[in-house]
Amino acid sequence: MAPSDATPTSLTGIGVSPGLIAGPVARMAPGITEPEIATLESSRDLDKECDRIAEAAQRVKKGLELSAAEAKGEGRTLLETTAQMAADPTLTTSAQAKVRERRLVPERAVWEAAGTLADMLESLGGYMAERTRDVADVRDRIIAVLTDSPMPGIPRLPEPFVLVAEDLAPADTALLDPEKVVAFITSEGGPTSHTAILARALGMPAIVGTGTEVTDQLQDGDIVLVDGTKGTVTLNPSEEALRRARELASRVRVFNGDGATKDGREVQLLANVGDAAGARSAAEAGAMGVGLFRTEFCFLDQPEEPTVEAQVEAYRGVLEAFPGKKVVVRTLDAGADKPLPFLTDATEANPALGVRAYRTTRRDPEVLEHQLEALAKAEADTEAKVWVMAPMISTAEEAKAFTDKARSYGLKTAGMMIEVPSAALMADKLFEHADFASIGTNDLTQYVMAADRLLSSLADLSTGWQPAVLRLIKAACDGASPHGRPVGVCGEAAADPALAVVLVGLGVASLSMTARALPDVDAVLKSVDFAECQRLAALAIDARTADDARAAVRAELPILEELGL
Ligand code: PEP
Ligand code: MG
Repeated sequence: MAPSDATPTSLTGIGVSPGLIAGPVARMAPGITEPEIATLESSRDLDKECDRIAEAAQRVKKGLELSAAEAKGEGRTLLETTAQMAADPTLTTSAQAKVRERRLVPERAVWEAAGTLADMLESLGGYMAERTRDVADVRDRIIAVLTDSPMPGIPRLPEPFVLVAEDLAPADTALLDPEKVVAFITSEGGPTSHTAILARALGMPAIVGTGTEVTDQLQDGDIVLVDGTKGTVTLNPSEEALRRARELASRVRVFNGDGATKDGREVQLLANVGDAAGARSAAEAGAMGVGLFRTEFCFLDQPEEPTVEAQVEAYRGVLEAFPGKKVVVRTLDAGADKPLPFLTDATEANPALGVRAYRTTRRDPEVLEHQLEALAKAEADTEAKVWVMAPMISTAEEAKAFTDKARSYGLKTAGMMIEVPSAALMADKLFEHADFASIGTNDLTQYVMAADRLLSSLADLSTGWQPAVLRLIKAACDGASPHGRPVGVCGEAAADPALAVVLVGLGVASLSMTARALPDVDAVLKSVDFAECQRLAALAIDARTADDARAAVRAELPILEELGL
C-alpha cells in the first residue's frame, strides 16, 4: 500500500476495539429509500416489467447464496435464511400483481408488496415476526437491482479494506469477514453497543460515533490508518506511520494461561463467551476459565422458552471446553438491547430500567427454575467447576433469594453481578449471601452516569474511567473483603490494559474479557508490581475527570506505547 502525497489529516471518533491498521476505504452503500408512487407509461410492456422483477429476485438470491458459501458460522446462516426469502415467490407474485393491476413502477410495486408481507408476518408473531427484517433486506436488494443502485450491505471486494458506514446492525457485524474487513469506522454507535463488543471479539480495530463530518470525508479507495486504541483515523498517512502499523501488526503476542502481576500475585484472566464455539476458542487462547457465559446469547432468536434438554446441551458445550476450570455462568440477562420474546415485555416505556435480567423472576419464576435445573444437569455431565450468578441484583433480598434458589439445585457456588449502583454501595450486606461477585462495568457505568450505553453522543460519560465508576468498584471490593469473597470484573473495562491495572489495584481478583484481549492485558499486568497497581488505582480514583484518570495512569505505563496499546 503506497502512501499518498497529500498531507496527512487526523480525524477522531470513539475507539472501541484496539489495534492499528491501514487499508483502503470501502463505503457501505446507504440503505434504499422509499420509491415514489409512480405509474408506468402506457407504452411499457407489463409482461416485461413483471419479468424484470422475477429476474431481479433471482439475481439477489444467487448473490446471497454465493456470499453464504464464502461465509462462516452465524454469518452463513443469516445469508442462507435471507436467500431463502429471496427465493420465496410470495413477494414477487404480489409485486407483479401490483404492476398489472395498478401499472405501478416495479420498484414501487416491490416496496408495497414487501410492506404487506411484513405486516402479515408481524401479525403472526414469534419466529415469523422475526423474519420481517429479512423481508426488508430482500426488498432493498431487489430494488437496488431494478434501479441500478449500489447493492446495500457490506461491499464485496477482492482486497482487504476498511469499512466505512453510518452504523452496523448486529446482523451486519456478524457478516464481517476479518480477512476482508481489516477495520471499521461508523459515524454512529456507542462504546458498549453490541457492535462494539463483536468488533472486539473479532479482534478488529474499530472506531464508532465519528459523526458524519468525519465519514463524509472518507471516499472509496482513500488510504486510512485506523487507531482503534486512540480513536483516530489518519487520512493519507505518512510512510513512517504505515511502517509502524506494519511492524506492530507483525508482532504476535500470546497468553500462556498464567495471569499475574510482575511480583507474582495471581490475577485470573478469564474469557467472556456466548456459546460452545466461543468457549473452545477461548480455551485455545489460554483463558484460565470463563468469567462470563452470557447464556441469553444462546437463545436470542427463540420465540419460546428453550426446553431443559436444549439448555443442557447448550451449557454442556461450553462447560466441556474447560475441564477442571472455573466457568461463571450468568442466568438469562434478558431485556433492553437483548430482548427475549418469551421473557421480556416489548412495550415497556423504559426497558433499561424495567423488568429485565433477574427481575423477570417476579413475573416468570419458573424460567429461572428450569435454567438452574439444566445447569445442574450439565455440570453433572462435565468436569468444569460451575459458578452461577444472576444479572442486575439490586438488593440483599434478591441476593439471598437467588443464591438460596441456586444452592437448592445443588449448584454450590452462587453469586451475583454488581451492575446496579445500589449493589456496589450495599456490597457488605449482599456478601452475607453471595459467594462471589462479578462487576458488569458496562451497566454499572450506564446506571451511575445515567447515560444510555448505546448512545455515541454520551460516550464521554460511558467509560469505566469515570472516577464515580471506580469509586463504586472500590466500594464493592471493600464490601467483599471482610467476608473474604472474591470480586471479578467482566465488563468491557477489564479488556482495557491500563484500566485492568487500576482494577487489580482496587482489589479485583479476576478479569474477564474477549479472548483476543488476553495477551495485551497479560503483558501490561506482568510489567507492574501489585503495589504499583494500588498506587495507580489511587491516582485514578482521586482524579477529577475520566480523562484526567486515564491520562494520569497511562503516563505511568510506558509499556503501552511500546506495545502500541
Ligand atoms: C456488563 O454490564 O458490564 C456486563 C458484563 O453485562 P452485559 O454487557 O452483557 O450487559
Ligand atoms: Mg450487564
